[in-house]
Amino acid sequence: MEYRVRFVNPGKNYQLIKSEIDRAYFEVMEKGDLIDRGQLKAFEANLAKFVGTKYAVGLNSGYDSLHMSLRAAGVKAGDEVIVPSHTFVATASAVANVGATPVLVDVGRDFNVNCDKIEEAITPRTRAIIPVHLNGMMADMERVMRIAQKNHMAVIEDACQSLGASMNGKRAGSWGLTGCWSFYPFKILGGYGDGGAITTNDSDVAKFAMRMRFNGEDRETGEYYGHGFTCLLDNIQAAFLDIKLRHLPDWIVRRKQIAERYRVAFGDIKDLMLPHYPDKRFDCVYQNYVVRSKQGDEFSDFMKKNGIEILVQWRKPYYRHEALKLKDRGFPETEALCREVCSLPMNVEMSDDDVSLVINTVQAFYGLR
Ligand SMILES: *Cc1c(COP(=O)(O)O)cnc(C)c1O
Repeated sequence: MEYRVRFVNPGKNYQLIKSEIDRAYFEVMEKGDLIDRGQLKAFEANLAKFVGTKYAVGLNSGYDSLHMSLRAAGVKAGDEVIVPSHTFVATASAVANVGATPVLVDVGRDFNVNCDKIEEAITPRTRAIIPVHLNGMMADMERVMRIAQKNHMAVIEDACQSLGASMNGKRAGSWGLTGCWSFYPFKILGGYGDGGAITTNDSDVAKFAMRMRFNGEDRETGEYYGHGFTCLLDNIQAAFLDIKLRHLPDWIVRRKQIAERYRVAFGDIKDLMLPHYPDKRFDCVYQNYVVRSKQGDEFSDFMKKNGIEILVQWRKPYYRHEALKLKDRGFPETEALCREVCSLPMNVEMSDDDVSLVINTVQAFYGLR
């Protein structure tokens, strides 16, 4: 079907920065700079600076960033790693794929790990925790860091959805051993294909990831430092991402404007829970604008039928997929929110009229117009 408002519109986003992207494309292509060249190094330096860490290492995906981080933290078979029960499945899959066991903890109203429930999930085997900063909103990292320190757990931040977000002025991805980033096209900083990175202040971790992304090889000496992987961020993607990173601060401002229009328009609808939180320590960048509608599918179907492309993430919690063999420890908040979530269009390509169309459609559903 033809949507009147698209959830994201990568073609239109490209038009916003076409001249810069085209210039970078021709420069890279004409020089033949394909693997680990200046553009990758420049992007890594700029990403580290933006996040507030000493190092950034470009990888092939957000999944790889989680995987490399777990290996750098020494997580191995028999260990347990705490992850939220509501997140993109990759958070848990990265844990399972290093042979460890993901131990799930329920989330709170902000969709992030409920810190009151972390300690009851800790066992003598717990090695690490992966707090996820979902939808552009940080988890309560002050508490996570305190709990982790007390219990000797490594902290790996899954910051894939929260580039630019902060708590008390300290940015997502600068708190833990690593921050994990995805540049999947529809992330707040999206490439034109898969991409990812870790940020870290630990030089050993940075060095580990630099080698392991290249089959374990130290590119200067040719020495192999272990059995590695092939998961390097493409130089051309880095060139594109570096351009988009320069626009990111303005794009975050635009996202906040859209979020504010939604907040004002929907504030009085009592069957709609909005992603706005009074705690002033948090600065949210609205990677996604996820509402919880009491009417669930009825609401999300109405939006689609009326030409608004929405996303439902997710009606079925990931731990209910049998093949993943994850333990359901009882997650009432996740169960409740899964019936209700609906992500409204939120991107910098939208016009003010597009935002109005979304608003009118939501208000029509609730009989306000
Ligand atoms: C996108 C995402 C990932 C995985 O990123 P990929 O680049 O798709 O591998 C992991 N965790 C979260 C929370 C994400 O949103």
